[in-house]
Order: sequence, then structure tokens, then C-alpha cells
Amino acid sequence: MNPQPGPVLGLFQQTGAYLSGHFRLTSGLHSPNYLQSALVMQHPAHAETLGREMAARISALVAQKNDGSKKIDLVISPALGGLIIGHETARSLGVRFLFTERDADRKMSLRRGFVLQPGEVAVVVEDVITTGGSTREVIDIVRMYGAEPVAAGSIIDRSGGAVDLGIPRVALETLHVTAYDPAVCPLCAAGEPVVKPGSRPA
Ligand SMILES: [Zn+2]
Repeated sequence: MNPQPGPVLGLFQQTGAYLSGHFRLTSGLHSPNYLQSALVMQHPAHAETLGREMAARISALVAQKNDGSKKIDLVISPALGGLIIGHETARSLGVRFLFTERDADRKMSLRRGFVLQPGEVAVVVEDVITTGGSTREVIDIVRMYGAEPVAAGSIIDRSGGAVDLGIPRVALETLHVTAYDPAVCPLCAAGEPVVKPGSRPA
């Protein structure tokens, strides 16, 4: 982890959202750290600050990549993680906000009567990107409707910048987070019980 955290990671540390221990990530890998972004976003003022920053960074990226010719029509995020940051980003951009969710067979889908019109310009916003899997699924849904995903953003990129979504993206903070295959995890070797985040009080 950076010895001098940026303002965004500073917010995570201040609110106890940057956890240390022995965690099983969604990817199945084990890590000594976990980011519980809900603990930052429980404070509406922090959510608003991060949404405003996300909106500014994404607007600048979209303008730069398209010579100012694209107007963002909407923000779309995967539930649950992307809900609050996506909403705050949309508020700051002055556009509408849609979300996708997993149905019973774990397939990401657009429900609740949400519709994208062909040609609409969308940005995909997530809280934390690890492998980019959820964001990629949302990008696919946007394309399915004939809309155009022009950029993606996350509060934190915990891939160290490695994830390639095939569209331009921004992260408010990029981390190189250690993750181990369980077979070679030193925390497992030391006999430390592994915790699935979300299942314990932080
Ligand atoms: Zn382990």
C-alpha cells in the first residue's frame, strides 16, 4: 500500500473502510486487505465528494477521447456496489442513473423497466474494480441495447491498473493490493482463519 495515501484512500482509512486481516475475495483469491466501500459511502457528504470527483474525471476523459463531440446521457452501475457512487456521479453530471442486478441464475440484467435507447452515450461506474468482471457485464448490456459505453470509472482500482475493459477508464485511486492463490497463501499457512468480507462486522 502507498505510504502516503491519496485523499480518496485517506477517506477509506478515516472511515474504517480499509480493512486488514485475512480475506477471501469474490475472485476466490486471499488477501490481507479488503476495501469495504459501504463504510465510506454511509456518509452522504463523502459520497457526494467522490461522485463530484468521478463526474469531473469522466467528463474530462470523454471530452478528451472524443474531441468534445460526445454528450453523456446516463450513468449505469452494477448493484449493489455501484449504486451510491453511480447515483452521485449522475447527480453531478445532471443525467439519469440506471443500475443492473443479478437475477436468480447470477446473470447480470437490466430490470425494473429501465431502458436504454439506441445511440445513447453511457458511462459505467463501479465502486471497486478488481478483475473488471461486473463492469464488463454492464458494458455488454449497454451494447445489447444499441447504446454506446464511452468510458468507465471506479473509486478504487485494486488491479494496479492492469484491468483492460476495452474502453477508456478512470480510477480515483489505483492500488497494488496483494492477493494470493489459497494454495500458497502465507496467512493460511500461518493458520489464520479466513473471512469472507461482508459476513463480519467491520
Ligand atoms: Zn489465505
